[in-house]
Amino acid sequence: MSNQLLDRVVAEIADEMAQRADRGEVASYIPELARVDPKAFGLAVIGADGHVAAAGDADVPFSIQSISKVFTLTLALGKAGDRLWRRVGREPSGSAFNSIVQLEHERGIPRNPFINAGAIAVTDLILSGHQPREALGDILRFMQFLAGDSSIAIDEAVAKSEQRTGFRNAALANYMKSFGVLDNPVEYTLGVYFHHCAIAMSCRQLAMAGRFLAHSGQNPSTGHNVVPSERARRINALMLTCGHYDGSGEFAYRVGLPGKSGVGGGVLAVAPGRASIAVWAPGLDAAGNSHLGRVALEMLTRRMGWSIFGV
Ligand code: GLN
Repeated sequence: MSNQLLDRVVAEIADEMAQRADRGEVASYIPELARVDPKAFGLAVIGADGHVAAAGDADVPFSIQSISKVFTLTLALGKAGDRLWRRVGREPSGSAFNSIVQLEHERGIPRNPFINAGAIAVTDLILSGHQPREALGDILRFMQFLAGDSSIAIDEAVAKSEQRTGFRNAALANYMKSFGVLDNPVEYTLGVYFHHCAIAMSCRQLAMAGRFLAHSGQNPSTGHNVVPSERARRINALMLTCGHYDGSGEFAYRVGLPGKSGVGGGVLAVAPGRASIAVWAPGLDAAGNSHLGRVALEMLTRRMGWSIFGV
């Protein structure tokens, strides 16, 4: 019965989103992303029993971009545990995802693992002790394992496009290097960072990969224990407070779920105990978060009563 309700709500949202004229602006600072169709819309919701409600372009792969940062954070915490927090903070930044100003005030220690500087510091930790190719292989295999889908791949055209134009990220990385926050050569760390941002996944694959966060660290269908429940809870807390950069307050206010956005227009959201959700709408708002992605998630949580803050 409730799966029928969910199927209906997901289909209705996709229909409503198809008609919206306000679609935001597709990211253009990574030239390859500017080619994406602004009319695309996909939504996939996977319930605790494994039921998948999907609509629109839910099976079309898109560039996950910063959503990859949830998974690199998970890997880095597995590798370093609380040592990770020596090089990156856990507070919302209140500034843009690629902001440089805060880094100087805070002596090269990024505010949180989801702004670009923080994610680059996390990638550097994963890279230590490995060749860039091996570290990238580990990240990709982790995504494939979580999604149960070995076809997931990196979009090389997107990675190269960002590598050619990623001057700001290079500035952030060099600046952190000057404070000794990065251990590896800057170009190696950036190479791995650009490539994990360029992983392409569909909403269905992404929602599958996020299931462990919705279910206390465990994938309820496979029984795989991905992380201890305490770690899943803490990753969710960071997604809620920092997952949408300076739009995190607005996302919590309107949607009421932990969520992580990417400039490819995707959002991964977690309804603890209930569902893992992925939405894709390439047009962005002023903070660089998917505009219709947020609108769709707001409708979903309201209609299903899923906000973590109450119905
Ligand atoms: N790869 C992108 C960048 O570094 C990720 C940003 C994002 O998705 N918000 O600029």
